[in-house]
Amino acid sequence: MNDQAKQALIRAQESLNKWKESFGAWEVDSTLQVSEEDQTRVFDELVHRLEGNYPFHHPIYAGQMLKPPHPLTWAAYATAMMINPNNHALDGGPPSSEMEKEVVADLAKFYGYGDRYLGHLTASGTIANLEALWIARECNPGKKIAFSSNSHYTHERMCGVLGVEGVKIPLNDDGQFELDGVDAQSIGTIVVTLGTTGLGEVEPLNQIIPWAREHNIRIHIDSAYGGFFRTLKDSNLIDGTQWKLMQEADSIVVDPHKHGMQPYGCGCVLFKDPAVGTHYKHDSPYTYFTSDDLHLGEISLECSRAGAAAVALWTTIQLFPLEEHKGFGPIMAQCRKAALKAYELFQKSTKFEPYQKPELDIIAYFPKGSGIQKLSDISKAAQQVFDKGMEDRSFYLSLFKVPASQFLKKHPHFEADDESVTILRSVLMRPEHESFIPELIDRLESAI
Ligand SMILES: *Cc1c(COP(=O)(O)O)cnc(C)c1O
Repeated sequence: MNDQAKQALIRAQESLNKWKESFGAWEVDSTLQVSEEDQTRVFDELVHRLEGNYPFHHPIYAGQMLKPPHPLTWAAYATAMMINPNNHALDGGPPSSEMEKEVVADLAKFYGYGDRYLGHLTASGTIANLEALWIARECNPGKKIAFSSNSHYTHERMCGVLGVEGVKIPLNDDGQFELDGVDAQSIGTIVVTLGTTGLGEVEPLNQIIPWAREHNIRIHIDSAYGGFFRTLKDSNLIDGTQWKLMQEADSIVVDPHKHGMQPYGCGCVLFKDPAVGTHYKHDSPYTYFTSDDLHLGEISLECSRAGAAAVALWTTIQLFPLEEHKGFGPIMAQCRKAALKAYELFQKSTKFEPYQKPELDIIAYFPKGSGIQKLSDISKAAQQVFDKGMEDRSFYLSLFKVPASQFLKKHPHFEADDESVTILRSVLMRPEHESFIPELIDRLESAI
């Protein structure tokens, strides 16, 4: 936590303590007291255990989709923890429920849904997608749900949970869905991923929209990872084509706990047609619906949810608006520029080659050189670089497995001695990566 966040937290806690005391004096029960000795011992051990993590906060961490929240975001989260509101029902946390409605309205507007929509925060992208697929099933009963071979693995799993048949649609070399052999009549919903988890690819929503309209198929956008890149849709940093069409979809998922600088437990699902709310109807005697206003628990699959997640996201969006030139746009631009810079440097490198041009901020690459002739040589060298960085604590990457046929289409000059090849992958999701990339690549080159 930086000094600014520390000050913000101390100020907020002092004020909230005064508010707490305004209800009259009370004593904390003796059963809840902890000796100073125990507190020190347990917290020292806790810190020691946590130091077993990789340095997610540092630009030397260029591996998976992980980073700590913005310091002010977690100050806001910690502030809310003095109360621990529950956003299931208005009574569980009236102000944090209000804040949730406000941030969801901000997100709906950001994605082009305007004033009419239904949506709320969730525990994660998986739960948000589950909810969207559940509504998809209720809207088109008996029909299948389609997704591409690059979509997140949980779509297939959630189809199993929902008892819906899932269909995997292959993509051709141009990244288009191969729709020719697909029985459109049997499909109720198609998932389009804007920003795949593996390589950050943007699927062709513009191809799917006319096809889905023709066959009365719902469109669900999974932008759990990619969603915040919409801030750059009008810039020259990304191809804005698909991002500009998001409002055409029936539902959208985004994960503020990925690119939105939030602590875990923050996904979001949005529906274009508020009438889907009728599928959520329940009438339980033990929830505490005391007002006629909309309770978030009435429109969500989950019951208890962290009000603090809404507080943290609300605070973040006040400080970093969802705009191109202010707030999130410049942050996303740095990540994107880092990936473009990495691509350029890998193209010039004598020791690494980029796997393909990045569309967002995920770059994939592999070692090359005279000793690397076969796919298995690449896999072995990639693993060695990956291990070396962690051993020296000089960089942290992730590994990515590509089917041999897919790899050879792009890089045919290797001998196919294996069914798949392991390459290296870096999610450059810290804006600090932009200036750190040359240093990172220097370190990679000296590790080979
Ligand atoms: C991360 C991700 C998910 C899953 O979200 P969680 O928050 O990890 O549950 C789903 N889809 C895509 C495209 C993702 O990147």
